[in-house]
Amino acid sequence: MREPDNITRVPSAFGVARSGPLTRELRLMPGAFGLGRLPEKAQPDATTRTVCGYCSTGCSLDVHLKGNAAIGLSPTVDYPVNLGMACPKGWEALSVLTAPDRATTPLLRAESGRMAPIGWEQAAETFAARMKGIQREHGAEALAFLSTGQMATEEMALLGALAKFGMGMRHGDGNTRQCMATAVVAYQEAFGFDAPPYTYEDFELSDVLVFVGSNVCIAHPIMWERVMRNPHPPQIVVVDPRATETAMAATQHLSVRPKSDLSLLYGVARLLLDRGWIRPEYIAEYTSGFDAFREFLNAFPLERVEAETGIAAAEIERLARTIYRGRRVSFWWTMGVNQSHQGVRTAQAIINLALMTGNIGRPGTGANSITGQCNAMGSRLFSNTTNLLGGRAFENEAHRREVADILDIDEGRIPRDKGWSYDRIMEGILAGKIRGLWVICTNPAHSWINQSQARDILERLEFLVVQDMYATTETAQMADLVLPAAGWGEKEGTFINSERRIGLHKKVAPAPGVALSDFAIFRLLAESWGCGEMFRKWQSPEAVFQLLSRLSAGRPCDFGGIEDYQMLDRSGGIQWPYRDATRDAGSQRRLFGDGRYYHADGKARFVFEETRAIPESPNTRYPFLLLTGRGSASQWHTQTRTAKSAVLQKLYPRDPYVEISPVDAAELGIERGQWVRVSSQRGSMQAKAVVLPTVQPKQVFVPMHYAPTNLLTDAVFDPYSRQPAYKACAVNLEVAD
Ligand code: SF4
Repeated sequence: MREPDNITRVPSAFGVARSGPLTRELRLMPGAFGLGRLPEKAQPDATTRTVCGYCSTGCSLDVHLKGNAAIGLSPTVDYPVNLGMACPKGWEALSVLTAPDRATTPLLRAESGRMAPIGWEQAAETFAARMKGIQREHGAEALAFLSTGQMATEEMALLGALAKFGMGMRHGDGNTRQCMATAVVAYQEAFGFDAPPYTYEDFELSDVLVFVGSNVCIAHPIMWERVMRNPHPPQIVVVDPRATETAMAATQHLSVRPKSDLSLLYGVARLLLDRGWIRPEYIAEYTSGFDAFREFLNAFPLERVEAETGIAAAEIERLARTIYRGRRVSFWWTMGVNQSHQGVRTAQAIINLALMTGNIGRPGTGANSITGQCNAMGSRLFSNTTNLLGGRAFENEAHRREVADILDIDEGRIPRDKGWSYDRIMEGILAGKIRGLWVICTNPAHSWINQSQARDILERLEFLVVQDMYATTETAQMADLVLPAAGWGEKEGTFINSERRIGLHKKVAPAPGVALSDFAIFRLLAESWGCGEMFRKWQSPEAVFQLLSRLSAGRPCDFGGIEDYQMLDRSGGIQWPYRDATRDAGSQRRLFGDGRYYHADGKARFVFEETRAIPESPNTRYPFLLLTGRGSASQWHTQTRTAKSAVLQKLYPRDPYVEISPVDAAELGIERGQWVRVSSQRGSMQAKAVVLPTVQPKQVFVPMHYAPTNLLTDAVFDPYSRQPAYKACAVNLEVAD
């Protein structure tokens, strides 16, 4: 049997053995991709540091300059995040800037249907005239914007303030809804504020690491390298239906039935309780709600948990004992938890385990959500979408007054509620309530769940504006107006990474054509809208950074001790909170060391709820369960950038593929490399068969990076976070015609 064309399993490419071959690969890359291949005459005459613009790890990259041109990069050796390592996306960060399909000039759809180049003046006037026209005719409800976790904090704050306070848009959300909304709600309810408590050093200090729904080896390769550096050596537990790259390297892999992780976590909590393997003094002093939780757990005897999860009782007991015996146990989760119909409660079940065993606030511990995008954390605090600037509430009058005072704006400009979430914005378009949409730096025509319906919805808009680096994204091709934006490396600002570290990214290359930074575009549109005066203090990213610093004062995310960009540059990034150097010293800081949480009583809360079945179970017509997730360390989301790198293209399969268990493949007569059709009630796609025991029988896995994947997914949402549940729906599998 022949290996399918163009399919390379990442485990073999990047290694999964705990001896750490990944480190070697990552450090060998300079010769392959970076500075090492430069000819002698192109040796740099200067180097500057910048933070990577892909994932939430927040690696620092040294960009090598000759004159004003960036001629290569290498990972920063003494940065506390990546310690001299970068994944393939980071190594290739510069090459995607020169792609031939960059948006270089504004484009307006003519009556013929073709896109025609126009100048910025006409683009800004068209934006204002069309959007205002819709607003006049249909009211403030009729406009919305979709932001991103890929822009600088300063840019997303300006966007959120401009759209809501300046332009009077009622609704705005971001693509962070698709990745982190669940963690936000889980933390807010449990801790009183959206506050991931850890620092990356914890990867190296734990003696037990429990990963739930997190293929960290692929999704966050440098974090995984930090695990590989752990000298203790740790027990690594992976809870995941798939035998992922991370699971292959684990000491315990619990291959749960998809979406039964909540039952498992409650079952483990019950066992810990029954055996007395908890920390009663921590629970009594620093938490509330435990008595009710104790009673609730009576409903989760081992027999029930075993039946619901498919995990043998002995394995569940082994996990409970491992947690009990660990001195420093850390719990980590990402999209396998967040993208679920009961994601918030699952995340909180993880938090409950950390609280009841006292594994929080100490080195090597924590209930730790790993963020997705490079600035999802900045978005969570400052995008002015679901939270008012600085993690405040739109509904809170005192919060509105604080923001109005600091920004010197009329308090009446601040909406009294957060507006609609992403899914409700899409519903609003379908219902004809929203007619104008501004999409910035995200690609819903690929990434939104149930793609056929999503595209149908977007096509109903009267006016769709897309602001992006590339005019070729699926969404940009549907736009009425395209605003060409500078990308990472062509502008400056700050990102906040998963461990709350604020890092600086810089301009190291010119933007192509007349493309402008998102910051400059927002300022231009403010002028054309007629609200430029409201943003007179928002002159530059660094001026906005100072405003945000004032907005953070007194909040849990207070970073008022950071004086300026230079301080960030010198320091290797600074984690919030950072009120001043005397109170918040050190480059590795975790939260809750004093047991004080952000609720009014200072205590963390146990939050829990009965489990619910997955909304769409396999049936006779669609007998398989579809799992989705990241495919490789060389692909990023909808591939608008990573697909532009010739190097990265060699590191992942070009064609969509589906992982099928050998049992199912034999039953259906499917061979490796054969084209198969995967269908759900909503649509179908063709994919190449990868026959591997990584998936259980009656389960299949398709990476999310390929556009057709979301033709299959079902528009189901967590009821509290409104995050889409991308991970489980019923599909059929057959040999393609
Ligand atoms: Fe960039 Fe994330 Fe890769 Fe680090 S791990 S180089 S931040 S994409």
